[in-house]
Amino acid sequence: MRSRYTAYHQGDIDYLIATHHPTQRYGGQRAAIGQSVATTTWLGLRVIATEAGQAADSKGVVEFIAYYADPRPGQVHERSRFVRQKQRWFYLDGDALPPVEPKRSAPCWCGSGQKYKACHGR
Ligand SMILES: [Zn+2]
Repeated sequence: MRSRYTAYHQGDIDYLIATHHPTQRYGGQRAAIGQSVATTTWLGLRVIATEAGQAADSKGVVEFIAYYADPRPGQVHERSRFVRQKQRWFYLDGDALPPVEPKRSAPCWCGSGQKYKACHGR
C-alpha cells in the first residue's frame, strides 16, 4: 500500500496499473491516473489501521489517510482491500470514508513541523 502511495507521489503510472487487480482495471485508466498525478501533489500518508496483509496471508485491509493539494488541501480517507496472488499484492477496491479533521494542536499532516492550527488548519 505504501508503495502505491509512493507511486502516486512519483507519478509511476505503470506501477499503479500493475498493482491494481486485473479484474478491477478499466478502459481509460491510464489517462485517468495520468490526469490525477499531473494535477495532485501528495503531501503525506497516515496509516490508521491494518488487518492481515502479512506474508502468510492472501488478503489484507488498510485504512489510511493520504493528504494532498490540488492545489487546495484535501485528503483521501479509505479502507482498501488487497489480495495476494502468485506472491504479489494487488489493490482490489476500497471504501471511501469521511474526512478526518486533525486535532488542532497535533503536528500538521503536511510535514511542516508546525501545529495543524498554525498551518493548514487555519
Ligand atoms: Zn500544514
